[in-house]
Amino acid sequence: LLAATGLQKSFGTNRVLDGVDLEVRRGDVLVLIGPSGSGKTTVLRCLNGLETPDAGVVAFDQGPVVEFGGKVSKADRTALRDKSAMVFQHHNLFPHLTVLQNVIEGPTQAHGVAKAEAIARADTLLTRFGLAEKRDAYPSELSGGQQQRVGIVRALALQPQLLLFDEPTSALDPELVGEVLTVLRELAAEGWTMVIVTHELGFAREVADEVLFFDGGVIVERGTPSEILRQPKMERTKRFLDRLL
Ligand code: ATP
Repeated sequence: LLAATGLQKSFGTNRVLDGVDLEVRRGDVLVLIGPSGSGKTTVLRCLNGLETPDAGVVAFDQGPVVEFGGKVSKADRTALRDKSAMVFQHHNLFPHLTVLQNVIEGPTQAHGVAKAEAIARADTLLTRFGLAEKRDAYPSELSGGQQQRVGIVRALALQPQLLLFDEPTSALDPELVGEVLTVLRELAAEGWTMVIVTHELGFAREVADEVLFFDGGVIVERGTPSEILRQPKMERTKRFLDRLL
């Protein structure tokens, strides 16, 4: 579906990405792991155009192919943004909008979908994810797990080709983590293409096609879940896993 090559990004003198290459095949689930500050979030943001890399290429197989370093056109930026949808650590729902309004905002405002169709699409998704009776509630009236599920529904309503998840369960109380992971498992089983930043290693082992270990702005090691999580070759990966387990 997409290949990113040579991604570099600095904030001031802080080099956050130092040449990151990754490929995402259609239907695959990629899991990014690594210590805090290693650049995982920045990679996700570069893939969907929320962040502009200093150098590198993000190429979707059916376009766009966006080369960074020079000037990036608005059309390329929009095309990149429209390919994927992101689910954030803190759901980022608009507090002053109802669940339904949150879900239809993107399709109607950014994609020009007619309101009636956006509502029909939203209702189907809300029903499917057990949120139909919360349709007219405000985010503050929902549990953390429900808020995060609305965040996922909001991403799905954009009908993206790629779903990006940035630590979707790390802000949740432990008893709410399961319901969100269950949704992610369902999406993986349905064949959604996903890139997920997570510290939930058991979950990663179950759903990932490939696990990438980040440290210091580079991918130190990559492979199948059992290669990376059970038999890592690199010392840095071993140390990270030892600390987490
Ligand atoms: P975490 O798990 O803590 O989110 P991460 O691996 O996702 O870590 P990033 O969020 O990508 O790491 O951050 C990498 C580095 O980039 C950090 O040192 C962070 O402080 C810095 N950084 C990220 N965004 C910005 C920004 N907008 N301005 C300045 N520095 C930033």
